[in-house]
Amino acid sequence: MAKEKKGADKKAAEKSKKATANVVETNNETVETKAATPASVLTPEAVDFLRTYINTPSAVGFESGGQKLWLEYIQPFIDTHFVDPYGTAVGVINPDAKFKVVIEAHCDEISWFVNYINPEGLIYVKRNGGVDHQIAPSKRVLIHGKKGAVKGVFGWPAIHTRMSTADSKEPQAKPENLFIDCGARNKQEVEDLGIHIGSVITYEDGFDELANGYYIGRALDNRAGGFMIAEVARMLHNNKVKLPFALYIVNAVQEEIGLRGAEMIARRIKPDIAIITDVTHDTQTPMINKAIEGDVACGKGPSPCYGPAVHNKLLNIVQDVAAANSIPLQLRTVSRSTGTDTDSFAYANDGCPSVLISLPLRYMHTTVEMIHKNDIDSTIRLIYETLLAIGPDTNLSYL
Ligand SMILES: [Zn+2]
Repeated sequence: MAKEKKGADKKAAEKSKKATANVVETNNETVETKAATPASVLTPEAVDFLRTYINTPSAVGFESGGQKLWLEYIQPFIDTHFVDPYGTAVGVINPDAKFKVVIEAHCDEISWFVNYINPEGLIYVKRNGGVDHQIAPSKRVLIHGKKGAVKGVFGWPAIHTRMSTADSKEPQAKPENLFIDCGARNKQEVEDLGIHIGSVITYEDGFDELANGYYIGRALDNRAGGFMIAEVARMLHNNKVKLPFALYIVNAVQEEIGLRGAEMIARRIKPDIAIITDVTHDTQTPMINKAIEGDVACGKGPSPCYGPAVHNKLLNIVQDVAAANSIPLQLRTVSRSTGTDTDSFAYANDGCPSVLISLPLRYMHTTVEMIHKNDIDSTIRLIYETLLAIGPDTNLSYL
């Protein structure tokens, strides 16, 4: 939250304050205690887009469906766009400006590959990203073959039959014993459906809402991020903001298998500043150790982190902007890597000052990933206000 800051950072926060229409006016010292909840930036149309976006399969390496939808959505808010060879989509505002700022999320969804089809028509799988084998049994899936999506299920031995093994032990779900039944009863019938080795498989579970402002769905990691940067673009457009730099709104592919899309696009854009958004673990549920994972809760605000790839001065600015706009933060730390595209941007080219603003999320990499709408709201506002607080003159020098 509010921390002691140096003069330059205070200035940045002041600048942001001036640029905002609905800033809560407070005395400098009492920003947190007088925090009020501003009107939500989440319009019903925006939530409709989020629902459709989440419900559109976008497997790692095969992200075109989601990317197309996302590009269409941001089209009215940008000046131009481009797509790189592996499908990373970039909307640009002020493309001619020399100074370049990136706001970024990743669009890829963890999934499975068809790896082997047995003579009985059952499909064995291989991971495509860190998809969780423990949740697979009895899940409904879509197998994306050459003739379109085919429905299937992860079969699993019944509770009645699975104890009849020699050692009477429960079988554990592992990538090598998981199989999909799509109704075909031999290999030929599988192939007749257009399914082939290398078809990607996504879960069917879609977007839904729970009580008290929670959204659930698969791949909210990190299409919630793509949604938020799109909303930032919409706010800039609607508020007719003139930025003193080129803004690249980047929805990167292939994060889940090693931050690869970001790596490619960072080299191409060569940004001067990058603001990354992704999800992080809510640590309030059972079997998570706060002493290890930190203390983060859905609904209590965006979660930026400290870590070597995170630029300290940029993080200071984000913290000041948050304080000036009464946005609560939940700070955490990362060891070595952030595990997000932040690293790809920070270490690209000659080094790019980068910061990570994460959205708290429960049950990561399951089909019931859960986020709170207040956090989406405040993360959008935080990124927006940070953009108003930075520019080519921002001093990010460490020494
Ligand atoms: Zn992930």
